[in-house]
Amino acid sequence: MAVIGAGVVGLAVARAFARQGHETLLLEAAATFGTETSSRNSEVIHAGIYYPPGSLKAQTCVAGRDLLYEFCDRYGIPHRRCGKLIVATSEAQLARLSGLQEAARANGVQLEPLSRAQALALEPQLACAAALHSPLTGIIDSHAYMLALLGQAQSHGATLVCESRVMRMRLERNAVLIAVNGQEPTLRAAMLVNCAGLRAPEVARLMEGFPPEHIPTPYFAKGSYFALTGRSPFQRLIYPLPGPDGLGVHLTLDLAGRARFGPDVQWVEQCDYAVDPRRAERFYAGIRAFWPQLAPGALQPAYAGIRPKIAGPLEAAADFRIDGPQTHGVAGVVHLFGIESPGLTASLALAEHVLQVATASG
Ligand SMILES: Cc1cc2nc3c(=O)[nH]c(=O)nc-3n(C[C@H](O)[C@H](O)[C@H](O)COP(=O)(O)OP(=O)(O)OC[C@H]3O[C@@H](n4cnc5c(N)ncnc54)[C@H](O)[C@@H]3O)c2cc1C
Repeated sequence: MAVIGAGVVGLAVARAFARQGHETLLLEAAATFGTETSSRNSEVIHAGIYYPPGSLKAQTCVAGRDLLYEFCDRYGIPHRRCGKLIVATSEAQLARLSGLQEAARANGVQLEPLSRAQALALEPQLACAAALHSPLTGIIDSHAYMLALLGQAQSHGATLVCESRVMRMRLERNAVLIAVNGQEPTLRAAMLVNCAGLRAPEVARLMEGFPPEHIPTPYFAKGSYFALTGRSPFQRLIYPLPGPDGLGVHLTLDLAGRARFGPDVQWVEQCDYAVDPRRAERFYAGIRAFWPQLAPGALQPAYAGIRPKIAGPLEAAADFRIDGPQTHGVAGVVHLFGIESPGLTASLALAEHVLQVATASG
């Protein structure tokens, strides 16, 4: 079987198939694994708070979170269950805060309500009217995690081939013929899983004979981060209430304890990862709502990631799509579309789901 794309999801999928005894080839366009969205995110292990109950995002986030913590504990992947606070910054936001607690409960995620005084006892520099504490949220060294996935996939016989861009595919009876780097289609796979992230819809279009009505339109939503110079004022991740476009500009920490803010949301046509320093202006205003002491000039442009969206700016957020033969009617092919956040957290659960979808059909 072949997997296209060695991001965190493709690596988890390759590991899952290799462990089941499938001869697995992982094709990656870049010079190494995990250089796109999988290394341009917040590295947060999400608890599973925000997603519509029953959605694939909710199911795979909650299941994936538990699998990921277990994986980290077992294989010594650096991570920390630091917890996070979601804050209401005014009395007017209190109703939304309890709405969020209810929504999380529907996903089986318990959040602890905190009064202003209780929140300040945990994080003295915080400004808020009240907060919710999510003890299951954490942070992870995503590169160490990907390296472990790759090592395990390889130890079960999988092969990663870098600098191998899939450029064309042809459906044959019981197989897909794959052309890499402009060569003739010479690779033959009985099963193919498309984990090309931002390029997944484009890769699906490369497959001659695949029904185009089953390929979503891709949209790109860039998220920029700004790093805080100096020590982090907080021990936990701090999130405002989510807005229509995303989770709001929040504070995350890395494992060295450094703080960064982001990501914001900017709909773009092209994948350009440069951070525009002028975007800092809006960050200052957003951050001071929950951390008034933020000093002028303390934010430095850090990095950006791009969300692989399959719903446009004016549409409701889309769920993850794992489209197998039961969805599109093409045997042996599984496409993953719209694997934005919480794809890192969900990766091990997504891989199990892909395995089920792929093997249920044949
Ligand atoms: C700003 C931001 C913040 C996020 N924060 C979090 C977070 O805190 N927690 C969380 O759980 N999730 C988070 N996510 C989501 C998470 O990062 C992604 O869901 C995850 O990294 C997706 O992994 P992937 O393997 O699907 O895609 P990618 O990492 O993009 O990998 C796809 C791979 O496919 C390769 N490829 C593309 N086309 C071809 C081709 N034709 N041939 C061969 N290879 C090809 C690419 O080179 C790439 O390596 C965030 C995402 C963004 C954008």
